Amino acid sequence: MRRMSWTPDEETLAAIRHLAIQNAIEYEGKAVPGSVIGRVMATMTDLRQYGNIVSPLIVKFVNEANLIADSQGVNALIEILQNEAPHLLEKREKKERRTGLPELPNAEKGKVVLRFAPNPNGPLSFGHARGLVINATYAKEWDGELILRFDDTDTTVKPPLPSAYQQIPQEAEWLIGFKPHRIVVASERMTHYYEHAVQMLNEGFGYVCRCSGDEFKKFRETKTQCPCRENSVDLNIDLWDKMNDGTFVPGDAVVRVKTDMELKNPALRDWPALRMQDTEKNPHPREGIGSKYKVWPLLDFQSAVEDHLQGVTHIIRGKDLMDSTRKQTLLYQHFGWKYPETMYWGRVKVHEWGGFSTSQMRRDIEAGLFEGWNDPRLPTLSALKEKGITAQALRNFWVELGVTQKDISVPLSTLYSHNTKEIDAIAPRISFVKNPVQLSLQGESPDSINIAVHPNDKSMGQRIFELKDNYVYISSNDTEQNEVRLKDFCNITVNGSNAQISSTERTDKRPIIHWVGSNCIDAELIVVEDGELVSINGKMEMHDYPIGTALQLERIGYGIIVAENKIMFTHN
Ligand SMILES: [Zn+2]
Repeated sequence: MRRMSWTPDEETLAAIRHLAIQNAIEYEGKAVPGSVIGRVMATMTDLRQYGNIVSPLIVKFVNEANLIADSQGVNALIEILQNEAPHLLEKREKKERRTGLPELPNAEKGKVVLRFAPNPNGPLSFGHARGLVINATYAKEWDGELILRFDDTDTTVKPPLPSAYQQIPQEAEWLIGFKPHRIVVASERMTHYYEHAVQMLNEGFGYVCRCSGDEFKKFRETKTQCPCRENSVDLNIDLWDKMNDGTFVPGDAVVRVKTDMELKNPALRDWPALRMQDTEKNPHPREGIGSKYKVWPLLDFQSAVEDHLQGVTHIIRGKDLMDSTRKQTLLYQHFGWKYPETMYWGRVKVHEWGGFSTSQMRRDIEAGLFEGWNDPRLPTLSALKEKGITAQALRNFWVELGVTQKDISVPLSTLYSHNTKEIDAIAPRISFVKNPVQLSLQGESPDSINIAVHPNDKSMGQRIFELKDNYVYISSNDTEQNEVRLKDFCNITVNGSNAQISSTERTDKRPIIHWVGSNCIDAELIVVEDGELVSINGKMEMHDYPIGTALQLERIGYGIIVAENKIMFTHN
């Protein structure tokens, strides 16, 4: 059907114009027609059929808005919206507040490249989540790319765990909600690091140093150049070959970056870039790598070269790595590269967890102290997920803490309250009676009682508590008092294993206890108490929720179904 006769009314024109202005404000006077068209079509769906008429109008309004920004400044645009469509400004403010992160310096839409670079010596921990969440949030905000890079060039102190190469990308996707755009494995890119090492030697800003660690330490402390610094290029290349062909053994030689032995910061003085590792004794666990290489880059060198090769634009790292930035900046100067923008954060400590390291957890798991990486006592992502902490709660937690150099100490309850916000509205209520005792009901009662699955969401349906056998279960903890009320049912007077129903109305302030009817199952609740996993037996309502469902156990807290009759406690 031809719709040539259609022309937009005043109201539609104004709405389109306002969206163009909003976009121009957002992009500092450089509104993009494409994104305004997208926004118009998304919010005014009835205009989609008139795309050929609407699109040129949008282009016209975008140009007008950009022109105003250019001649009178973005504030003039803000003023227009304040007068004509203030809700479009509010929305923008809300969005900015939501991310809670500082502006990424010198970022360009569509051109931001960030990286998250864990050592795969274990799966991801709670601490890793920060790097992932912050980098992913920025990547998303700027339509940029996120690289997941395995910094796996240490085969001796923190050897990689083979399973982590598969587990980490899955955990990352779960946490951030999308697949990282690129995955880079450092140990598979050794030739690149070698090429750059050789370039350093050839161009004279690197040298092979054969001093012992102690000898060089003295040179560094006394700001003295070591004799190797004067090696000719030919000698350096010859020594480099001897590192690679096995003439030398670990400890015999390292490749250093020539900086300046007079630099104020001793750590920066001719810092080591590559060293030898005994991969016969400690082969690299990655298939095809094994004992193939004798010379390995140190993290500062490997990371610096890789950041350049991958076009990383922004690095966000701990403030304890400021020296790494300084070292790498000196290296970049030698190569004639531009160093990425860098932001730092301070430490975040969770009271209950104190200090933990992946290496220590790995030792403890291997020693049998924990059941595995997903043991609910461990601060790993898999354990948190298994316990019922949502990815969104973790994201909100880290974004709220932001990127600040201040050291922060928080209680675990902060994470838990983020999680409550995510699950409370959707978690079905269920009754779990710990250490159950049976009570025979005396008096008149219906065959069953219906109770809402969720008190605030009727659409979630009803639970049925069967009463036709005239008994219920309550927790033995609740038998100390005689006058109680069975939640959503009736007042009772308990006498041994009998209970007399007195009133279905709530007539007094007696305590309310939870209960289950005869249609219940034997169930187990797993909780962590004082560092131990404790299993609590009980009776639970029959249910058909799938494994992984978050529940609220009435009067107990939140839990997640790990088997039909087994619930893992999340938090209260
Ligand atoms: Zn030396």
